[in-house]
Amino acid sequence: MSAAKKVLLVTGGSRGIGAATCRLAAKAGYRVAVNYAANEAAAKALVAEVEAMGGDAFAVKGDVGNEGDIVAMFEAVDHRFGRLDGLVNNAGVVDVKARVDEMSLARLERMMRINVIGSFLCAREAVRRMSSKNGGQGGAIVNISSAASIHGSPGEYVDYAASKAAIDTFTLGLAREVATEGVRVNAIRPGIIDTEIHASGGQPDRVERFRDMLPMKRAGTANEVAHAVLYLLSDEASYTTGAILNVSGGR
Ligand code: NAP
Repeated sequence: MSAAKKVLLVTGGSRGIGAATCRLAAKAGYRVAVNYAANEAAAKALVAEVEAMGGDAFAVKGDVGNEGDIVAMFEAVDHRFGRLDGLVNNAGVVDVKARVDEMSLARLERMMRINVIGSFLCAREAVRRMSSKNGGQGGAIVNISSAASIHGSPGEYVDYAASKAAIDTFTLGLAREVATEGVRVNAIRPGIIDTEIHASGGQPDRVERFRDMLPMKRAGTANEVAHAVLYLLSDEASYTTGAILNVSGGR
């Protein structure tokens, strides 16, 4: 099967790191399913952009915090493309700045449901399709963790950091579980990347505030993360599984 026909699903593919990944993947010849939660205009604009450069993409709405949405999303990909070669578990959320002693149950449940359980359920659906044990042709999964999993994000969002630490261990365990089944599973820990996620957590100036504390004295771009994702998805990474790559400018 030529690389031109490979199919990639990117959760949260409509904006930020996910959108940069969809653009690069389309350029590399993947057919791309662009998942989004609510912002249909952004998803449609990205699909139009991919189509304008001769690529094949479609937008699929679905909340990765909802199992029914996830199952329907994978069925939509089956229907549209008839195969699956890669999954990028990119959809993720932060919350407003808070100490642990201020966090509500509702906040914690939302964080873990979207960031952790959503990634598990999407990987479940992908492995059901890609694993040779299940009759699939193999494939690759890239989970988007965060440098927060190492630093812990004290006073800011320890819940988010812990959700990403769960993604690190999930990556290692799943990678070993399916290692003989043609499916590679890796993760990336982005550092501070210039996207709208910071504003969504009530800190639109976060990139600016952290800039001087970063070894390179600058935030990363979504594109810089996307290049690492594309590498881990590619056959060039054929002996890389269970790896977690820091894309964090040295932090
Ligand atoms: P972003 O700019 O806020 O974009 C988030 C994307 O995820 C959007 O496409 C959004 O869709 C989608 N999304 C949000 N909640 C969703 C849900 N419940 N179900 C499905 N899609 C959902 O975020 P980003 O900065 O690119 O972050 C992407 C990933 O990188 C996240 O996992 C994040 O934790 C991780 N990360 C980011 C940074 C950073 O500094 N930016 C650092 C480390 C790790 P809508 O457009 O419909 O809202």
